[in-house]
Amino acid sequence: MAHQITLIPGDGIGPEVAEATVRVVAATGAPIEWERVDAGAEALARTGQLLPDDVFASLEITRVGLKGPTTTPVGGGHQSINVALRKKLNLYVNFRPVRRLPNLRTRFADVIIDLAIFRENTEDLYSGLEHEVIPDVVESLKIITKTASMRIARATFEYARREGRRKVTAVHKANIMKLSDGLFLKCCRAVAAEYPEIQFQELIVDNACMQMVMRPETFDLLVLPNLYGDIMSDLAAGLVGGLGIVPGANIGDGHAVFEAVHGTAPDIAGKSMANPTALMQSAALMLNHIGERVAARRLQDAIEATYAEGTHLTRDVGGTSSTAFTDAVVRHICASRV
Ligand code: NAD
Repeated sequence: MAHQITLIPGDGIGPEVAEATVRVVAATGAPIEWERVDAGAEALARTGQLLPDDVFASLEITRVGLKGPTTTPVGGGHQSINVALRKKLNLYVNFRPVRRLPNLRTRFADVIIDLAIFRENTEDLYSGLEHEVIPDVVESLKIITKTASMRIARATFEYARREGRRKVTAVHKANIMKLSDGLFLKCCRAVAAEYPEIQFQELIVDNACMQMVMRPETFDLLVLPNLYGDIMSDLAAGLVGGLGIVPGANIGDGHAVFEAVHGTAPDIAGKSMANPTALMQSAALMLNHIGERVAARRLQDAIEATYAEGTHLTRDVGGTSSTAFTDAVVRHICASRV
């Protein structure tokens, strides 16, 4: 039986990297039927809705989606589609594994980097609760709840136990935000106490950023409130070759939507310069999630073989062409199937 998966190509480079990813998933032989729906600026232009109802209708049936990035205007305009999707489907875990790919030259090429970020995905300063108190004075509400903090901490420690990881670092600013970050930290400590075999560390977010650059090899799993998780994801991506590389998964109890960490990259959209690695690696996470483990392994191995070979890479990592990269990944998958 084929797996039905909702495909949301998104805006900017989204359709380019989505198309490349659909090609490599097809090459793995996994029985996938894509149900394509549109969301984002282009959906708005065509249907008058940013997040049309058919996106939710599709995800209600498939339960699993693969999503390209969508535009969020700065300093005004519509709310983030990602935030709306994550909240509506209660996708409370944002999981982002950050690993160096073979042979990829970066400033940190001599360091072993193999960490994963667990970002709380539903609250914090992303609640969108802002108002003008009096003219020229605005207030943004940072919401932290015990429920959301406990479940992201539990998801992190459960993953650590299941995957045999050694350490969890909770990142916070509870020295200043004593109540909100204080509650997040208290929840992490309470959950950590139930997993005595896993080392637990606490770091204040500014120090965590410095440590991440100075000693990235000391990190294993990180658990963070929403905003720090967002910022540290991009920081960590910078250590392993940039935003073109790092995949992600938004996971809840009933649904999962897989997407890269990167945005729509308007500066390179339509120029055949986008690196599809991040969405391809997100698709490998997705294949694992739906139980297509052989296909997931084939895809991940083929991506790594393409980097190890080093001759068909995209511009952001020292190569020339997106299409040649995708062709090379397909070639490695096909070679592994004979
Ligand atoms: P961005 O991630 O789009 O781009 C940052 C830089 O990284 C750019 O120089 C870009 O060229 C480069 N880059 C990103 N992805 C790349 C790839 N796959 N290959 C090669 N280079 C890549 O971040 P931004 O410019 O801050 O945001 C642009 C838009 O994307 C905004 O509207 C923002 O709200 C949105 N955004 C969406 C998501 C999402 O949908 N999940 C995430 C982040 C940002």
